[in-house]
Amino acid sequence: MKYVSTRGNAAPIAFEDVLLSGPAPDGGLYVPEAWPQFSSGELDGLRGKAYAHVVAAVMAKYADADWANAAARVAHEVYARFDHPDVAPLVKLASDRYLLELFHGPTLAFKDFALQLIAPLMSKALKRRNERRLVLVATSGDTGGAAVAALAGLPNIDLVVLHPKERISDVQRRQMTTVKESNVRNVAVEGTFDDAQALVKALFADAAFAREHRLTAVNSMNWVRIAAQIAYYAATCLKLSDAPVTFSVPTGNFGDVFAGYAAKRMGLPVARLIVATNVNDILVRALSTGVYARGAVHATMSPAMDIQVASNFERLIFEANDRDARATADLLAAFARSGTLTLNEQALATMSATFDAVRVDEIETLATIRRVHAETGRLIDPHTAVGVAAAASRPQDESVVILATAHAAKFPEAVAQATGSRPRLPDRLQWILTAVERYDTLPNDEQALKRYLKGATN
Ligand SMILES: *Cc1c(COP(=O)(O)O)cnc(C)c1O
Repeated sequence: MKYVSTRGNAAPIAFEDVLLSGPAPDGGLYVPEAWPQFSSGELDGLRGKAYAHVVAAVMAKYADADWANAAARVAHEVYARFDHPDVAPLVKLASDRYLLELFHGPTLAFKDFALQLIAPLMSKALKRRNERRLVLVATSGDTGGAAVAALAGLPNIDLVVLHPKERISDVQRRQMTTVKESNVRNVAVEGTFDDAQALVKALFADAAFAREHRLTAVNSMNWVRIAAQIAYYAATCLKLSDAPVTFSVPTGNFGDVFAGYAAKRMGLPVARLIVATNVNDILVRALSTGVYARGAVHATMSPAMDIQVASNFERLIFEANDRDARATADLLAAFARSGTLTLNEQALATMSATFDAVRVDEIETLATIRRVHAETGRLIDPHTAVGVAAAASRPQDESVVILATAHAAKFPEAVAQATGSRPRLPDRLQWILTAVERYDTLPNDEQALKRYLKGATN
């Protein structure tokens, strides 16, 4: 399998290269050159198999034999360390409504599913090449923690995580800053998440600096992260085998819901995909009017979705335009120039055939956390609540699986405000509440960050 850029102006590359790359050199995103298929016989063979088996089967469709074997070995190892024997358990919430719990990994959010798998694979690839890389990540909370947990202590990788100072939850910060391994550095940027993200983008855009410091990305622009996430959609479809399944996906950067789309394209019985957003609703506007237009970012109680530019939407634009890379490049160039792009009627119709999009405001999010607690006794986190509220747009008798993207204990204030009950951090993480934190503080300034990194990699 080779990977091609959505903008068509980069040479196709192999799995090992896509594993180690962020955006393609032409500014596009890598996608598989064709969608691999699961036959119904293969799917029957996977029914009832352990989660790591399903991961291995998905990765075998995307990686050459050596890497597929490595991925299978890593999958059996890392998912065995999750807190739940089912890894991604499916629980019934109401008749025809299910929660897919994706928070049983080391840092209590779904980001662990991909990062736990790809970190050891990246390390293996670097060892083979005798290379060292500096992974640079900006985080609104969950990606940073998952990256720290996955990359801490790995040889040949240094990790620097930028978080917006005093704008993430205490639990999120402590998950990153209490790490002891010396290959990880945390930086509190005096600014917003957008400022931190802009700093990272500026450093990657400085080609000479990026090359000299061997910068590498692990955000969801990396295709292998998406590939890893296809597995929980597949495992869920295999469990609910009576009819095609609709998924409601709390969405920010469009990576997770694009993994659901990939599962459908591979032949899994996915019915519809609901893009559930908070008031940062660029995707809801795009999917209802065809106009994808950047707006101001509003801070909400579901901060991992406080995003106005959903990077992975480019992958869907490419698909909905029948993989016309030229048309995709033109649309994204228009967006870069003016902050707006307009989908043609046929592309919008193609998207609407699979996707719904629903915006959920803060009041409805709180009310949903409260209602689910009252009706089921469960505490759900604000991101999950957005997914639950959005699922109400589907008919009562349609099976809808809502992705529970984070554990309630990561966002105790919002959950306590809604229910009066404060969710407790699992015992194995209690120590972070009192451990010594280690992080540096930097101004929102590109030169200051560059000077800092020169120190960090020497
Ligand atoms: C990252 C994240 C999301 C959004 O996922 P995308 O792939 O960016 O759309 C939703 N919920 C939580 C808890 C997250 O950490």
